Amino acid sequence: MLTDSEFQYRAGTLFCEDVNLTEIAAIHGTPAYVYSKRGIETKYRAYEEALAGISHRICYAVKANSNLAVLQTLARLGAGFDIVSAGELFRVLKAGARADAVVFSGVGKTAEDVRYAIENGIHSFNCESEAELHLLSEIASKVNTCISVAFRVNPDVDAITHPYISTGLREHKFGADIGLVESLYECAMKLPGIRPEGVSCHIGSQLLDLKPLWEAAEKVLALVRRLKRSGVPIRELDLGGGLGVPYRGAEHGVSVSDFISGLRERLAGEDLRLLLEPGRSIVAEAGILLTKVLFTKRNGQKNFVIVDAAMNDLIRPTLYQAHHEIVPVVKRLDAGHLTADIVGPVCETGDFFARGRELPEAGSGDLLAIRTAGAYGFVLSSNYNSRPRVCELLVDGSRVHVARRRETFEDLIRGEDLLQ
Ligand SMILES: *Cc1c(COP(=O)(O)O)cnc(C)c1O
Repeated sequence: MLTDSEFQYRAGTLFCEDVNLTEIAAIHGTPAYVYSKRGIETKYRAYEEALAGISHRICYAVKANSNLAVLQTLARLGAGFDIVSAGELFRVLKAGARADAVVFSGVGKTAEDVRYAIENGIHSFNCESEAELHLLSEIASKVNTCISVAFRVNPDVDAITHPYISTGLREHKFGADIGLVESLYECAMKLPGIRPEGVSCHIGSQLLDLKPLWEAAEKVLALVRRLKRSGVPIRELDLGGGLGVPYRGAEHGVSVSDFISGLRERLAGEDLRLLLEPGRSIVAEAGILLTKVLFTKRNGQKNFVIVDAAMNDLIRPTLYQAHHEIVPVVKRLDAGHLTADIVGPVCETGDFFARGRELPEAGSGDLLAIRTAGAYGFVLSSNYNSRPRVCELLVDGSRVHVARRRETFEDLIRGEDLLQ
């Protein structure tokens, strides 16, 4: 069941909250990402409510959707943030968030990234290797500070998701081997500028089964107990993000409250603060990509619906073989059905949103909504084929806020120089 309840039909026309999507298209043009502010807030609050009584902080994973207005919406609710680059920290601070609620993840932090984050006073680093540990120690000592560090451990758990978004097996580049990490903590205890106070892990994304998450939590908790016994003052446990959302009509997402109640049992009596880094499960269902049909055509046995959005705007179908439901913005009662490939104008065979999809007959000028596009949508977009990036609109009740204006041709060449 799709649970993007902020997108509902009223008298046959799709709305985002109280705004008619045909009006949005008329005023702001297409393609356009449309986000529901209430949808984002509802998902965030579901985590907060489930975590009541547990010492915790929710650090929204910025990479899922880093629009300033989205970050600001979450910052106002008291969210912390999980960043993977200095650029993401820059955004988070611009959005009005507190630096001391930010954790820094990522397998390849540069010295410049680390310095910028330390200067801005972030909460902690999720460290992925011994070499990184030395870098953190060196930079922190140089500026006479002491930073909180958690090792990201790799618990060797199969997350059972798409291979490109699975990260928790020993063969992946992420984290430190859970069997070898204790020597890294020993090393960290002796280094200046470093307080090893946490353990973190993140086993993958779009997980639709809670078992791997609990298995990882148990393995990591056993590690925490071993570390505490040997004198490492672990106070925080960061279990990453990864909760899946339903992309198909028939699919069920995982329930945040089931996940947290499973954690609640396992964490009882542990005296740890829990950090979580949800990205997709906060924003995916709160967004759609609004697009217009340009042409329809038939090549041999195949029908094609050519729309004005393309793989450069939403690459998930191409990159992850991801499924997105695609629905007409205006339901026509007399429309028959056709089976078609829904494709964009980019010169790549991989430029498709759906293949062999059954949908109500659509013609030039009709609007379609590509659903569940709030996460890993705009953030992965590019200017390929010199296509200006689309606008992002944040709907709040009956108001539409232009969260990012559509790029112009001038934007396309910004920073480029002709030869003299
Ligand atoms: C991508 C990522 C997340 C967020 O994952 P979602 O599946 O979007 O919840 C959290 N933590 C880390 C370290 C990540 O790389």
